[in-house]
Parts: sequence; structure tokens; C-alpha cells
Amino acid sequence: MELLLLGTGAPPAFRKSGQADGILFKDKLYLVDAGRNVSRQIVASGFPIKDVENVFFTHFHLDHYSGFGDFIFSRWVGGATRPFRVYGPPPVEEIAKRTLDWLEYDIALRVREGRVREGTRMDVHALSPGDTLEVDGMTIGADKTTDHGIVEGMLSYRFEADGRTIVIAGDGAPMKKLTAFARGADVLVMHPCVPELFIKNTPQNPSRAKITISRHATPEQVGRTASAAGVGTVVLSHIIPIIADDEAVGEDVARYFDGEVIVGEDLQRI
Ligand SMILES: [Zn+2]
Repeated sequence: MELLLLGTGAPPAFRKSGQADGILFKDKLYLVDAGRNVSRQIVASGFPIKDVENVFFTHFHLDHYSGFGDFIFSRWVGGATRPFRVYGPPPVEEIAKRTLDWLEYDIALRVREGRVREGTRMDVHALSPGDTLEVDGMTIGADKTTDHGIVEGMLSYRFEADGRTIVIAGDGAPMKKLTAFARGADVLVMHPCVPELFIKNTPQNPSRAKITISRHATPEQVGRTASAAGVGTVVLSHIIPIIADDEAVGEDVARYFDGEVIVGEDLQRI
């Protein structure tokens, strides 16, 4: 089992694609979040997009699913004739429905031309914190382990297979629970934010900066969480704000964590 970083950027980054991860297991790609450019990135990774059959969402801030409609479309036009499964916290059902509503005009046209509608269908599964799934021989745990402000529906995922464990914490400030959830993982993916840069860049609106900072993880929190959980490698993705010096963020994290720190890049496999 491997982690494939499809998009590591936060909006409005232009050198990186939007947030999306892949878990590669036994020739299948399991998608976690579907930010901007996700379809292009799946194709760029060499994986046939029509064969992606499982999509997991951490939450529904738009930068984590703005590529979802295009994914459904590209997967279908790419040859998919079978439905796929979508997992996520509420309001996953509503988001899936609205996305299909948005696509319906085009879908109806292509169905009239002979394309199989079945390829756009989704089986949607709303997950709750503490749920565990078995999917194709992988054990997947879902829990709410980060505090992301007013976003109630937040899930982190723990993928276990082949004696390897990959935890995607997702957005947000680590809650105490994350340490236990990520315990002993080989790879932990976290999303750091650099508070000083937010304060410097929004002097006209310090309360806005404070809100943003409080619902994200500082480099120190990332390092301390990785240490406390005893993970092997921490991977940094979705670093905000986008003017942050990624390497410097990595060095900051490394001050609090003795293991490997990887500043993630698009299409990197770990
Ligand atoms: Zn978010």
C-alpha cells in the first residue's frame, strides 16, 4: 500500500493542484478528497481514471471537493460504465446529489447519444466518527480527530493493509484523539498553517486571521502530534497561506519530531 499525493496545494496556489490524495493498493486507486485538477492529476499519475471506484471525503470545504464534478465527468467520458462508491461525513449525500444535479444537463445529452448513465451513478455512504470499514482487504478507520472550526462533519482516515498504515488527518487543529488514531502509523499526512504569515497578511482583519489560525495545525502541533503518535514519517500537504516557505515549514516541524519529514509534492509516491 502506497500514498500518492495527487494535489498538495491550497487555494489559490497555481504551481500545485488542489488537495487530493490517493491510496494505491493492489492495482487500485482509492481517492481521498477531490480538489481542483484532481482528474488531470489522476491521469498524470498513470492510473486509468475510469477504474477509480472509491472516493473518500474528509470534509466539504470547497478546496477539498471542487474537482469532484469534473472527476465524475472525466471518469465517465474516460470509459466508466459502472457506479462508484463515495464515503464521507455529512453532508456527503447532499453534496453528491447537488453535484449530479449540476452535471445533469450534460449527462442527459450524452445518454441520448448512447453513453451508459450507470457510469455516473454513486453509492453514497455517510460515515460517522468511529466507523470502521473493510474495503477490498483494506481496513479503513474514520474518526473526527481535528478541530476545524464550525465544520461539524470532519473525518480523518486510517488505512491499514499489507502491514502498512497510512493516516490522513486532514484539515484542522489536532485534537487529543489524533494521537491515538495515528498511533504507530508508517505515514501521517497533516496540513500545516503558518500563523505569523496570516497575522502579517491580514492586518486589516486580525479577528479573521485568528479564526483561520485556530482551526488549522501549526508546524509545532504537527511535529508534536507526529512524535506523540510515534509515526515513522510525517507528510506535509496543503500548507497555508500559499506564500509560506514550504521548506522552512518542514524545518519547523522537524524541531518537534525526530522521524522523517516530507514536504509533499504533487504526484509524489510514499
Ligand atoms: Zn478545510
